[in-house]
Amino acid sequence: MNNPTNDPAARSFVAVASDSHFPIQNLPYGLFRREPGGRARIGVAIGEMVLDLSVLEAAGLFDETVLAGRKVFSAERLNDFLALGAESWTAARRRIHELLRNDVALLRDDAALREQALLPQQQVEMILPVEIGDYTDFYSSREHATNVGVMFRGEENALMPNWLHLPVAYHGRASSVVLSGTPIVRPKGQQLPPGAETPVFGPSRLMDHEFEVGFFVGPGTDLAQSIAVDEAPSQIFGFVLVNDWSARDIQKWEYQPLGPFLAKNFGTSISPWIVTLEALEPFRCAGPEQDPKPLPYLQAPNEWSYDIRLETWLKTETMEAAERIAVSNYRYMYWNICQQLAHHTVSGCPMAPGDLLASGTISGPTKDSRGSMLELTWRGSEPLRLGSGEERKFFEDGDEVILTGWAQGEGYRVGFGEVRGRILPALD
Ligand code: MN
Repeated sequence: MNNPTNDPAARSFVAVASDSHFPIQNLPYGLFRREPGGRARIGVAIGEMVLDLSVLEAAGLFDETVLAGRKVFSAERLNDFLALGAESWTAARRRIHELLRNDVALLRDDAALREQALLPQQQVEMILPVEIGDYTDFYSSREHATNVGVMFRGEENALMPNWLHLPVAYHGRASSVVLSGTPIVRPKGQQLPPGAETPVFGPSRLMDHEFEVGFFVGPGTDLAQSIAVDEAPSQIFGFVLVNDWSARDIQKWEYQPLGPFLAKNFGTSISPWIVTLEALEPFRCAGPEQDPKPLPYLQAPNEWSYDIRLETWLKTETMEAAERIAVSNYRYMYWNICQQLAHHTVSGCPMAPGDLLASGTISGPTKDSRGSMLELTWRGSEPLRLGSGEERKFFEDGDEVILTGWAQGEGYRVGFGEVRGRILPALD
């Protein structure tokens, strides 16, 4: 292992349970407040604690040798750090890893500094880690695109002719990207009831989730520039879990010819901790074989997927505890992150630090690995029977959806924590 920050044997002086998502091998970045209304601070999760990087920076622990004297960890968002690029991300990660190791005395033996810099995650309020300028949502799982295609257009036209040649996407709405825990109000819009010829207006009756994994872009590009497929990894900072809430009845009526609009723009939830590309490096793997071979600008070695277990949980209002309704894996994705970023920018579309690009719903080959209720219940025709005795075709008011995921190492997990959201009734 040539990267010490990925050493499976490394341990922190901070206690970390073996099933914790945040061991010293992870070190994901987030933004938090120590008290309500207080200033936003950049932190790293370690076990059940947060390491306040602004405190370490003020104490001079990120000196000239780490980030060339740039004070990015005193900022009230992560964008400035993202703008520095991959070399700085690596340097910062190495420094943080070193400071948290149980065999390095610097922070371990400085009780005063430790007291200031480490605080329980339970005591802090997490907030959106970056200012998201633009949000794009891909549609890169072949199983998902096929399932939806079969339901909306029939077996014959399931995959559109372009699907195997380019990573299909739409431009989403950054204004409604919210942090895990933010309630989601059921949207209103037009729907065409079955058999009707004219639409009605009202609250969506087919509320759904989409299990996705999104990545944040780093330095970015100027107008008319593009990012080549082999340069893409140096432009990708890290990942979060994404729930791309979807109103299927609104979507079905509005989506042709320009794709989803109101069906998706009312809320997209993300998990609070950004897991870096570097932390996930030991779990990088091949994705599905691509046939036909993509055009040259999309040709990349098939080694840019990740083995990340993805679990969907549901808690209705009558349940005491959440129930797992699906288990999937990120590695099922057909188009990889390098291809997504290369395709997005090949036209000359600029990228900015903090832009969010989500995978699209991730579905696997089996029925219980599907990433949306639309697919899990096959458009409501096969309702889920829950342990509480309830049934669900789509989500009802009061339902809470919890997405979680992690990569399993030898004796440790690199995890995302969770992204949760509860559905509230539509407003009058
Ligand atoms: Mn989506």
